[in-house]
Amino acid sequence: MPKIVIVGAGFGGIAAAVELRSHGFRDVTILDKAPEPGGTWFYNTYPGAACDVPSHLYSYSFSQRRDWDRLCPRQSDILAYIHDVVREQGLDDVIVGDSPVDRCAWDDETRRWTVTVRDGRTYDADAVVMATGQLHQPATPRLPGAESFAGHAFHSAEWDHDYDLRDKRVAVVGTGASAVQFVPEVAKEAAHLTVFQRSGNWFLPRKNRRYPWPWRKVIEHVPGVQALRRRYIAEYTELLTRGIRHPATLGRILWAWSTLTMRWQLRGDAELRRKVWPDYTIGCKRILFSSRFLPALRRPNVEVVTDAITGLAPEGVVTADGRTHEVDCVIYGTGFRTNDFMFPMEITGRDGLSLRDAWAGGPHAHLGITVPGFPSLFVMYGPNTNTSGGSIVTFLEAQAGYLRQALELQRSRDAAAVEVREDVEAASDRALQERFAGTAWLRCDSWYRNEAGRIVTNWPDLMKEYVAATRTLDPSEYEVVARPTPATAVPEGVAAD
Ligand code: NAP
Repeated sequence: MPKIVIVGAGFGGIAAAVELRSHGFRDVTILDKAPEPGGTWFYNTYPGAACDVPSHLYSYSFSQRRDWDRLCPRQSDILAYIHDVVREQGLDDVIVGDSPVDRCAWDDETRRWTVTVRDGRTYDADAVVMATGQLHQPATPRLPGAESFAGHAFHSAEWDHDYDLRDKRVAVVGTGASAVQFVPEVAKEAAHLTVFQRSGNWFLPRKNRRYPWPWRKVIEHVPGVQALRRRYIAEYTELLTRGIRHPATLGRILWAWSTLTMRWQLRGDAELRRKVWPDYTIGCKRILFSSRFLPALRRPNVEVVTDAITGLAPEGVVTADGRTHEVDCVIYGTGFRTNDFMFPMEITGRDGLSLRDAWAGGPHAHLGITVPGFPSLFVMYGPNTNTSGGSIVTFLEAQAGYLRQALELQRSRDAAAVEVREDVEAASDRALQERFAGTAWLRCDSWYRNEAGRIVTNWPDLMKEYVAATRTLDPSEYEVVARPTPATAVPEGVAAD
């Protein structure tokens, strides 16, 4: 029975554990750096934190709830949901918290993995599932003079709940999906809030009020309503992706809808509208969903600054126009090191190949999951599996099903491991990159791209196309690595079965 170590107890790691255990792989351990499960929903506790993907879709297909109280769940609801799933699925004893993994190494002789935790503990495994996600390492810009700043500073993913923002002068750097959620909350408390925007965003509305009581009861009690909503929301989110894929046609509809939304939210304030209006094709960066952010910018205690930040001074933030914006606190809503994936973790595969070297030209993996040279290493939410429209949970479940099939292949052949063929991965990567041609994603710079301009995070097609592509693993795309025993008659290296 293969021994499997999963790194990460967020939505991905839990999906993999449930899938594997329900298919007879009982020897599963999940290691997580946090003390408890939840992944990004454990760390991101900033005020207003919520998911902008409706809960009916942003939840596991195998653990649907009919009692969500609003369309988009709040962070505390999602974390509670994850804890419930862990309990229901009997995963409490499978998850080992406070276990940041520093290293995963394949041993060519034993043909097994050793996973090393920072405190020196090691776990041996026949397969490793990397479920660390793309959004777990906060990116804080290195601003000149940052160490001289006399006030307080923190990143949105490391919110300092002990710091009282009331009556403070606060700076927020960044206007991405996180900032858009916490800025309206901070604006209510702070004496003065300066929002530093580097690029404007395209917005679509998101009211997210509590469902009225009768509607909650309908969802809860009328059979089929929940399933229907899930299907409807999935189709609706696919529309966003279609708009991004076809900027000159469907994208124009998105553009018109967003333009109307933004003009309405900023009505009567032409100066602010000019400042926040994006200068790139809609969908090139993540479309943001909020009905509260732009109106919050209109409050008398809020100022939007679009001059570039040149550094910090003891009193506050210095901008290119020479102004020093005096503040008591700087909150970085500057996102995550998305292109780093699971690094700085050291991962070495066959022949001592480092994943960092294998990905020197940018991360790539077959269907975002398997990498040549790394036998039975599976990545979840890996390269090119982010979605601009749908729910990442759908992608994660698809990946869990796919890697389970790979491990069934390994188990049925009594093999040491399975490894994707290099030519298969290279061809699928080439085909995937070609799918970006003509799409909005290529029309600006964003965190979807690496320094060379290659899109390394996003899937270029619909969510349902990813589900279809991963539904059935083709064994001919894999090499089976024999066990290192004389009985296999394959003493060295990788043997094609
Ligand atoms: P983000 O989308 O990467 O936004 C970072 C913001 O900081 C951008 O406005 C960026 O400007 C700005 N920025 C970065 N470095 C800067 C610098 N040196 N100086 C000035 N501005 C700087 O990060 P995020 O808002 O934390 O969101 C990350 C991802 O998390 C999202 O895209 C989304 O996938 C996920 N998320 C999801 C939800 C949800 O509800 N589903 C909520 C929050 C986050 P530029 O645009 O110019 O780069």
